[in-house]
Amino acid sequence: MASLVSVYPLVTARALARPFTYLAEGVDKGAVVTVPFGRARRRGVVVGLADDAPPDVEPVAVERVVGSVPPALVDLALWLADYYGSTPARALSLVAPSSPARRKGAGRRAVKDDLPAEDVPRDLTQGQQLAVDRIVTALEAGGGNFLLYGATGSGKTEVYLRACAEALARGRGAIVLVPEIALTPQAAGRFRGRFGEHVAVLHSSLSEAERRDERERIAEGEARVVVGARSAVLAPVRNLGLICVDEEQDPSYKQESDPRYDARALAAKRAALEGAVAVYGSATPRPESWARLERLEVGGRLARPLPPVKVVDLRREAGYPLSAPLLAELGAIADGGGKAILLLNRRGIAPAVHCRACGATRRCASCDVALTLHGDRRLHCHHCGFQEPAPTLCSDCGAAELARLGAGSERLEAELADRLPELELFRLDADVATSASALAERLSGFSAADRAVLLGTQMVAKGHHFAGVTLAAVVDADTGMALPDFRAEERTFQLVTQLAGRSGRDAPGRVLVQTYQPDSRPVALAARHAVEEFLTGELARRRELGYPPFRHLVRVTVAGPTADGPQAVLGELRAELEQVQDTELLGPAPLLRLRGRHRAQLLAKTGNPRPIAARVGRLLVAAAPAMRRDGLSSSVDVDPQGVS
Ligand SMILES: [Zn+2]
Ligand SMILES: [Zn+2]
Repeated sequence: MASLVSVYPLVTARALARPFTYLAEGVDKGAVVTVPFGRARRRGVVVGLADDAPPDVEPVAVERVVGSVPPALVDLALWLADYYGSTPARALSLVAPSSPARRKGAGRRAVKDDLPAEDVPRDLTQGQQLAVDRIVTALEAGGGNFLLYGATGSGKTEVYLRACAEALARGRGAIVLVPEIALTPQAAGRFRGRFGEHVAVLHSSLSEAERRDERERIAEGEARVVVGARSAVLAPVRNLGLICVDEEQDPSYKQESDPRYDARALAAKRAALEGAVAVYGSATPRPESWARLERLEVGGRLARPLPPVKVVDLRREAGYPLSAPLLAELGAIADGGGKAILLLNRRGIAPAVHCRACGATRRCASCDVALTLHGDRRLHCHHCGFQEPAPTLCSDCGAAELARLGAGSERLEAELADRLPELELFRLDADVATSASALAERLSGFSAADRAVLLGTQMVAKGHHFAGVTLAAVVDADTGMALPDFRAEERTFQLVTQLAGRSGRDAPGRVLVQTYQPDSRPVALAARHAVEEFLTGELARRRELGYPPFRHLVRVTVAGPTADGPQAVLGELRAELEQVQDTELLGPAPLLRLRGRHRAQLLAKTGNPRPIAARVGRLLVAAAPAMRRDGLSSSVDVDPQGVS
């Protein structure tokens, strides 16, 4: 017998963000169907039975069932849409398969019955064993959330591997999230080595067909351990028991386009919905996790103590970006062998070109930022991609006294090649790592080389495990601290600490940090590996200022062709939000112009973001026709990453 079902057609328009009623037979929650919609045919997801058709509407039948989503993932997607101020259809699109499953020949892929035993360390440390035991207890008791805290190299991955094995032994599946899979091929390799064909790896360079095949292996229960970046938190793993979030402090876990979800928050929600355990691992945890989660401590580095950190005061040492102490360390590698990793978190030759005569800085015509000089002798805008030939004369006063301010990764590479030609250089930044294969080539080149330097942006600080690295250096620790972001100190501390962890994993190592602010908290505490002291101070500061984890943030951004338009819309929005309880409103405040669009933001600090996000969503829908007429666009971001 046919019954009425509620279907969200997968359309992006906010105005259509409601379920529609159809007739269907034998169709359950989570079915992916095609339905007639307006004059077209759409895919949609069944979210449940409908009580009644709306009056005056004759419901029509769904056409076809083309796939399915586990009901728990439907609930997770609807929560995501609500919490992050998106629409159910946009969120359901993340979990619904994009096309009908392809049939595979039987035995296409051989599945090993037992788990290969190679590479399993016989004994765990006491800390590792206690962590695994606690995770297993929680798994059997119906779930929990933990912070797995330990220095780089302390064996956190082994805890994930053992916890996965324990979940599998109980008939449960597991998801392991890593920040950027292209940067951490070793992580996926260790899981494959331990669990063989039970592992599915989801990464951005998979083709659409490969992704569909992996998804099918997961949905059918053939692959029971999923390793992947952010979106793998939504993988259709059966009977999920465990979610591990490695390097939980990494900002790439937040999606920066609608739906602007945070995979870490989703992991906690999914674990709660499915009775699973969520484990967040880090050597430099977020203050949020430090304050909220039960801690499992695996202690210090396994093989060797953390290397000593030397702070180089750039106010006293000339030669930036290569000070005398840094050159001496690199010279020792050139003479005696070894490897170095150098972090300079800025691309190009120089971040600004400045006129010595009149003081003007060459800026992008459509964004309020200085243009960066690159090695191709052109000025680039890092926001909109605009380029122009580097000028020889100042465009304001005509003087020929143009100075390059600061240093980027290309300049560092050029100076190293000039000063220490014996060293083989491998640069890693967004200008050269344009594909996964280009990236892998450089990483394997560095891995095989001797007397070599890996240099570049924060990509070099991620979880690579290179043998023979004896020096790690932060060329300019101040780049991050100048950013107008309440997380600037946290990011600087994490970056310095992580880079320090790359050195001396198998031989005595050295760490150098160059800075103009040697007494700043993040630099001084990272130099002492004082993670807990940093987090305690950071939490006190955030409590005082009303930042996460004590308050949530909701940011509304409006962009338009004039400066006045966004300000006016946000001013009206502010007036409508004034009476919401337990909420402090900041702004509207102007933001940097981007791609020729003027922008402004309204920031809410609140104890409970959902009523604010929901109310903002309704107000923006009501304002949509007028905003469209005036060329204005808006976005809502709950718990955003970079906020001033
Ligand atoms: Zn000038
Ligand atoms: Zn620009």
